[in-house]
Amino acid sequence: MTYPTQPKASHFVNGAYLEDADGTAIDVIYAASGERIAQLHAATPKVIEAAITAARAAQPKWAAMTGTERGRILRRAADIMRERNHELSVLETYDTGKPYQETSVVDATSGADALEYFGGMAATLTGEHIPLGEDWVYTRREPLGVCVGIGAWNYPTQIACWKGAPALACGNAMIFKPSETTPLCALKVAEILHEAGLPAGLYNVIQGMGEVGSALVSDPRVDKVSLTGSVATGRKVYAAAADGMKHVTMELGGKSPLIIFDDADIENAVSGAILGNFYSSGQVCSNGTRVFVHKKIKEAFLSRLKERLEGAVIGDPQDPDTSFGPMVSERQMEIVKGYIAKGQAEGARLVCGGAQLPRDGFYLEPTVFADVVDDMTIAREEIFGPVMAVLDFEDETDVLARANDTPFGLAAGVFTRDLARAHRVAAAFEAGTCYINTYNDAPVEAPFGGVKASGVGRENSKAAIEYYSQIKSVYVRMGDLEAPF
Ligand code: NDP
Repeated sequence: MTYPTQPKASHFVNGAYLEDADGTAIDVIYAASGERIAQLHAATPKVIEAAITAARAAQPKWAAMTGTERGRILRRAADIMRERNHELSVLETYDTGKPYQETSVVDATSGADALEYFGGMAATLTGEHIPLGEDWVYTRREPLGVCVGIGAWNYPTQIACWKGAPALACGNAMIFKPSETTPLCALKVAEILHEAGLPAGLYNVIQGMGEVGSALVSDPRVDKVSLTGSVATGRKVYAAAADGMKHVTMELGGKSPLIIFDDADIENAVSGAILGNFYSSGQVCSNGTRVFVHKKIKEAFLSRLKERLEGAVIGDPQDPDTSFGPMVSERQMEIVKGYIAKGQAEGARLVCGGAQLPRDGFYLEPTVFADVVDDMTIAREEIFGPVMAVLDFEDETDVLARANDTPFGLAAGVFTRDLARAHRVAAAFEAGTCYINTYNDAPVEAPFGGVKASGVGRENSKAAIEYYSQIKSVYVRMGDLEAPF
């Protein structure tokens, strides 16, 4: 079978597709079949140089345009993304293996939202006037310069837009390096931005593994790095960025708690647990994978959860009826299988799932473990797959201490009908994003990001502007100036 997935070239640099076949070959594998659906090449030093040179050359003119002009281009790109949603969603499904049912409503849509939101904000980015008697200070909000975005493989279109849109709105240029596992979607984002009128050199996409990302991060002509990835990569990138005193945003991993009290609406709580564990086959950073369920309702919760999971339609992710697809890669599937084996070896009770499906591609069953205790590996480490760990609790103070007893702090959720308790618990959570009677919403209007090892900085919302711009204070003296000598 041939797939409509081979891009015109591996990279998009200075407003055009660019190839350099000397780069290491990157095979793009369709997770639902195991077949190769495209082959690209990692960026050579020549390509990296071309991207940095183009970005540096284009950025000052872009920054000198008015916010209204910049914003208009971003909003036009949002419109094109919406018009091409079907094509982009099909491509995202090939790139990641995620069901079209999800990609058609989440990925390009959320990317378009970011372009529209930051496009609208571009014209509102102003400084302040600070009176000091008859003198005054004014501030200028200025771009950082050249920003590098490095993406994970779970939301390739969304991540390319979440980083690109605020960077461009603020007057920066962007060089985006997708994950080598999902290199296709960001090229389309670059193509659409240029179709919308973005001048050449401002949004470049170059492919490669960690080494390409690492070369970008350590280049002195790069001013900012925004990474979405694991904590281990985050540590390396943060250290390399510190060396050059660069600005950073780090969107890293998590092991988020979801607490379900005995007064919760069980059906809603089960929905929350499903959204927080099995969407995108569990490959979502903010997933609530430690599900603390009050002892009184534990068995009722588990039996309803099992029933609902049996209703998952597992199959060809391009089929709109499919609601549960494969893992992104064989490697990721093997990692997750290792965690399932550890869960069993350490004494957790397998409620359902646990096996690879006997079909082509990298399919794992939705898996639930009960009777998990805090120090089991599956309760401590990020699995990044369709594996839910259910733990018991009885007391609010005790469960909060256990929920916060983790190096991560990306997200947390609570299901209860007691409003006072809901807000008390949300306030006590050590997490960047908290959910009350819902889970895993991430609209562009709200800040998104983690605390503790889960990250630095925020994406989306007005908060993102702080991470893609800097403030200059300009002092103005109206009268004569006195000096001691
Ligand atoms: P990785 O950390 O393995 O990779 C992330 C990106 O960093 C990839 O593009 C990778 O390139 C690149 N990279 C790797 N090493 C370096 C380096 N030394 N210097 C610069 N770049 C480097 O993460 P995954 O792609 O496996 O994604 C899964 C992880 O991402 C999970 O931990 C998940 O929680 C997290 N994540 C966080 C989100 C958030 O918003 N907080 C959202 C989504 C995912 P390559 O892989 O091509 O070698």
